[in-house]
Amino acid sequence: AKARVVVIGGGIGGATVAKYLAASATTIDVTLVEPRQVYTTCFFSNLHLAGLRPLEQLTHGYEALTRQYGITVVHGSAEAIDPAAKTVTLNNGSTLGYDRLVVAPGIAFRDGALEGYDEAAMEIMPHAWNAGQQTRLLRQQLESMEDGGLFVLVAPPNPFRCPPAPYERASLVASYFQRRKPKAKILILDAKDSFNAQDLFQDAWNRHYPGMIEWLPAQFTGGVTAIDAKTRSVITAGATFKAAVANVIPAQMAGRLAQQAGLANRSGWCPVDPVTFESALQPGVHLVGDAIIGGDMPKSAFCANSQAKACAFAIAADLTGSARFPAHLFNTCYTYLAPDDAFSNAISFKPVDGKLKSVISFVSKVEESSEVRRQAARAAEGWYDAFTHDVFG
Ligand code: FAD
Repeated sequence: AKARVVVIGGGIGGATVAKYLAASATTIDVTLVEPRQVYTTCFFSNLHLAGLRPLEQLTHGYEALTRQYGITVVHGSAEAIDPAAKTVTLNNGSTLGYDRLVVAPGIAFRDGALEGYDEAAMEIMPHAWNAGQQTRLLRQQLESMEDGGLFVLVAPPNPFRCPPAPYERASLVASYFQRRKPKAKILILDAKDSFNAQDLFQDAWNRHYPGMIEWLPAQFTGGVTAIDAKTRSVITAGATFKAAVANVIPAQMAGRLAQQAGLANRSGWCPVDPVTFESALQPGVHLVGDAIIGGDMPKSAFCANSQAKACAFAIAADLTGSARFPAHLFNTCYTYLAPDDAFSNAISFKPVDGKLKSVISFVSKVEESSEVRRQAARAAEGWYDAFTHDVFG
């Protein structure tokens, strides 16, 4: 009989594991469990907020994974894992048996992280930290905002999905305001005192959007403690900020299923072996993507994809006896400062004493020429197409 692998979560990490497992061995039966019919990428969703990319261009289906790779895609949600019986129970009541399980549920928001920020408040002050309906809602609010309005962005504490993304968002929304609402202002209320690539962002804000973006660190405000959706207000220890449009990005942890199944430790994230991505808490279960404790690896789509390939090859080697080869873990990241100004970095990672350590190959600098930045913005577009093809076939 064929070995059975069930992959939970058809996002970047899960879809990549499923595809690379199915492609690496015809003797493995792969089932991918994902509630959504289509996946909208978070990467490039900030371009949508700036009116520069339709959401349809960021949306991908699962047809190629089934047609070209023979993967069974089940549209449902996994509700429970029984590691002793090796079964997964879905929300429709059915169960799936497995020889190996991969869990890639992405992130969840921490309960009670911001008082008043519940499901109803998310429909008024969107997070847009999972792409799709939330991204569309935030874009509509930005479009209908009057010139001169205040856009408040609440930035989360570490660690969180995509370290540069809140600041890329502020930059691209500023580029939209500059074109259409030049009197508007952006206020970033941060849970941190510093942020990723801060020098590059602050240099760009001075050059492209002088006076438009104000960033307030936690040491200045005491941090955001509560939200009042009725008045669209963001509340800190010492002040209340009333927004025309608010984007609230709360503190994060590994997706709910990982918490319920005992795959996360007290940090809220999942410890794994840095070579095979097998859970340190539950043998036979592997995890990839934002949900894991990745050491120096940031929570990015590129990292999720890179971890997924290493994980797929390790599982294939175990199940089929095929050769093991060392994992090559990598992150390449493009970040937009303006439509024609992007920076990039390229970092590789290797396991050292059970932790993933970074080896920097390339990082952008403040003094780069505008031509170099223009080229990075164009290279990012090519990356998007090649990368989504690598994940979704
Ligand atoms: P996801 O892609 O979120 O996938 C998780 C999937 O699991 C979802 O489809 C979900 O429906 C499913 N799921 C959850 N629970 C269950 C369950 N119980 N049963 C079944 N399915 C379940 N990364 C980059 O590399 N480059 C960028 O430029 C970049 N830009 C970004 C910009 C923004 C604004 C944001 C928010 C993120 C950005 N990222 C970027 C980060 C990137 O989107 C994430 O790191 C990546 O999506 C992580 O992949 P994942 O598979 O762990 O999670």
